[in-house]
Amino acid sequence: MLSPGFISLSPDLLDALGAVAGTENVTSDPAGVETLSKDYYWYSPVLRERLEARKAAAAVKVSSLDVLRDVVSLAAKAGIPITPRGAATGNYGQCIPLYGGLVVDLSGMDGIVSIEDGVVTAEPGTRLAAIENAARPKGWELRCYPSTWVKASLGGFISGGSGGIGSITWGGLRDQGTIKQIKLLTIEESPRIVVLDEEKALEAYHAYGTNGFIVEIQLRLAPARHWDQMIVASRSWADLLDFTQAVANDDSIPKRLVSVLEDPIPSYFKPIKKFYPADHHLIFLEIDASKTADVKSRAEAAGLLVPHQIAHHEPRRAPMLSDYTWNHTTLWAIKADGQFTYLQSGFTDDFRGQMAKLHERFPGEILFHLEFVKGSPRNATMSKAVCGSIPLVRYRSEERLREIIQFCTEIGVSTANPHTCYVDEAGRSNDFVRQKELKASVDPKGLLNPGKMKTHPTNPFLVPGSLPEFLFS
Ligand code: FAD
Repeated sequence: MLSPGFISLSPDLLDALGAVAGTENVTSDPAGVETLSKDYYWYSPVLRERLEARKAAAAVKVSSLDVLRDVVSLAAKAGIPITPRGAATGNYGQCIPLYGGLVVDLSGMDGIVSIEDGVVTAEPGTRLAAIENAARPKGWELRCYPSTWVKASLGGFISGGSGGIGSITWGGLRDQGTIKQIKLLTIEESPRIVVLDEEKALEAYHAYGTNGFIVEIQLRLAPARHWDQMIVASRSWADLLDFTQAVANDDSIPKRLVSVLEDPIPSYFKPIKKFYPADHHLIFLEIDASKTADVKSRAEAAGLLVPHQIAHHEPRRAPMLSDYTWNHTTLWAIKADGQFTYLQSGFTDDFRGQMAKLHERFPGEILFHLEFVKGSPRNATMSKAVCGSIPLVRYRSEERLREIIQFCTEIGVSTANPHTCYVDEAGRSNDFVRQKELKASVDPKGLLNPGKMKTHPTNPFLVPGSLPEFLFS
């Protein structure tokens, strides 16, 4: 059954798309379109139910700006919904079309234009691993990247991601000037290029593909380092957290990763279980090789175990601890036990007290997975590492998730709700009012990923019942 407001493409439009993009790059075959309409939305039982039936009517793969411009022009003239797609590793259904129409696959626009003076300029479909691998021989590396870096695209990271490995030093993607410039293509019959620099570029950041097509990005890089990986283990949660905080806040130790995993989460990581003892809480660290010996002796002096170290290797090879951190932790847990889902939480300085309260109020339901990140100048916490968390939650019902989120709010824990596909409900935007203004200028007819910016007044496809309801609505 078609979902409410579903928009089909006429045969003439499909022919015209084939003429500009190549018929081999256009599909309206239901199975192929279904695949190209989905991402990792099934992480959330709420999203799985609400978005399962949503899909595009057709998909087109573009490999150059000229072809994209022609495709956008045809779609704008026809007034159909257009949804950008990178590598589709997003886990909030960001690239699932709510109203049918056309999915535009940008994975073929994947050229690195330059890596110069600590800045990479690249096309949106470029995989983050390709940038890292091209930058390192030149003495540079990504400041931060998601644990999906092998597949994820640069444009998708800017539009749908927030941070990851490296954020312990550089904060989120939107912090410390990491995004230098974004070039957008407008959604008009004669599409224009709009160039946004520095702070302005943040208006196009994390907009879930609603604010123009990102066609080129400049990111600031970090000087490349030799990263060693280390596992630290303890049966004592309190001792482990003492050590984590000390390392996370010690600026003399260059770091890329400080992840904390409450027992039994490590038991879900089947491929690497042999490297650490059972029934222990763990820290996964990536630290500069010059500091490895020092950190190891500090851990042992604190009564902690260091069961495994992985020396720097160029290029990096498995096992990589980061493959078990950030939202990969959630993936391993779901693989081990399909009952798990997750939240995305921001703790305050009292994170130990807050975790204790959550354990007490929801016994056996929440397991803590912490990711320490450099604080943001936006909330005056820049000098220290703050405790973010992607806690695992044993799913009972939507009502129960609501209760947990509500309790978090009461005890001062913020939530970036991962159980909604609406950018205005996700709770990450730095300046949503300016994002909405940008949308009005780059997508005047509201054709781009319609419905995802739920409160935007221009949605030509809105019919009663056409938007799914989520936890915060
Ligand atoms: P997609 O999923 O293809 O797209 C994401 C959004 O961007 C969609 O709304 C899409 O419409 C839009 N979009 C894509 N390209 C463009 C463009 N050129 N112009 C305009 N809009 C565009 N995220 C993190 O931030 N940190 C993590 O550590 C992390 N870990 C993850 C681990 C797992 C196992 C999974 C499944 C997800 C994780 N994610 C993480 C989420 C996701 O992988 C990343 O945000 C990733 O960078 C998204 O890139 P993508 O190319 O897959 O984007």
